[in-house]
Amino acid sequence: MRRRIDVDALAAQVLDGQRAGIAQAITLVESSLPAHRPLARALLARLLPSAGKATRVGLTGVPGAGKSTFIDALGCRLIEAGHRVAVLAVDPSSTRTGGSILGDRTRMGKLSESDDAYIRPSPSGCHLGGVARATREAMIIVEAAGFDTVIVETVGVGQSEVAVAGMVDTFLLLALAGAGDQLQGIKRGILELADVIAVNKADGDNAGQARVTARDLSIAMKLINDESSGRRTPVLTCSALTGQGLDEVWDAVGEHRSWVEETVGLQRRRADQQVDWMWAQIEGAVVDSLRSTPQLASLGHELAAQVGTSSLSALDASARFLSAYAGEVPGFGWQDAD
Ligand code: GDP
Repeated sequence: MRRRIDVDALAAQVLDGQRAGIAQAITLVESSLPAHRPLARALLARLLPSAGKATRVGLTGVPGAGKSTFIDALGCRLIEAGHRVAVLAVDPSSTRTGGSILGDRTRMGKLSESDDAYIRPSPSGCHLGGVARATREAMIIVEAAGFDTVIVETVGVGQSEVAVAGMVDTFLLLALAGAGDQLQGIKRGILELADVIAVNKADGDNAGQARVTARDLSIAMKLINDESSGRRTPVLTCSALTGQGLDEVWDAVGEHRSWVEETVGLQRRRADQQVDWMWAQIEGAVVDSLRSTPQLASLGHELAAQVGTSSLSALDASARFLSAYAGEVPGFGWQDAD
């Protein structure tokens, strides 16, 4: 992006739904060049009033669970019903070049051919914080471009699920049929985040096993769901391959959304997500600034080494670090209590 960026023109292209403009806008918000941040913020400020109207759904599942197949099939159904669907991928671990693990066009073949779909792979080579920010901002861009359904896809193996759950209305887990021990392979933390669970590949010889897994997961959710919420995560079965059960899964997503609307309120929930996001941004920036202050960074490493060999307690080490920090930052009101 060496050309000068005309933010007004770019915003107009996005609002007009022009694909080249959408792509350029997302590349701008993904950019880690400091000079691009003010431009990205100015662009987002122009787009924000037109964003926020979409149904935002997070989708997770281990590699091979059938996420691409599921999104391809579901997305095409939604488009047939008159929707416009954007798919954004979050995969911070990815170091791939060329072909992508997530969001790869060839893996959502039918959907990617539609003018009413927009598929964007995860930005590569970024840490989670960077990917999470870029994805939130990409969501604003596709919403402003008129996509009314945004699916944020993530591999169900790491921390990115927490970040994604913090930016969507409904979090959908795609599980696979399997014996009890496999069931435990799904991280409890991910089950806690799930608003709807679908056991995929419930077709052919696998159908019975999928139903058993769904029942087991349903029992597990009884223990995991917070009783005070008054809601139990529904566990369904589906086949992304045959299309069976997909409408029911989408209905369950809609029911969850209605439940949020009736209890917390969708706007309230989104506003709370924004507050959490604000603090996450601030914390991230403060920690980054600590790491980039050479003296503090080397003191941090020294202290960490001593704590690591038990020659200094974590409490004493953090006290020493914070008093050094207080010396660097005027007005930082930390004082060692001892
Ligand atoms: P992802 O890694 O989660 O995106 O999984 P994919 O969508 O790439 O699917 C992995 C494999 O499972 C592919 O070979 C798919 O054809 C297959 N698959 C996906 N969904 C289904 C399904 O519902 N039934 C069956 N039998 N196979 C499926």
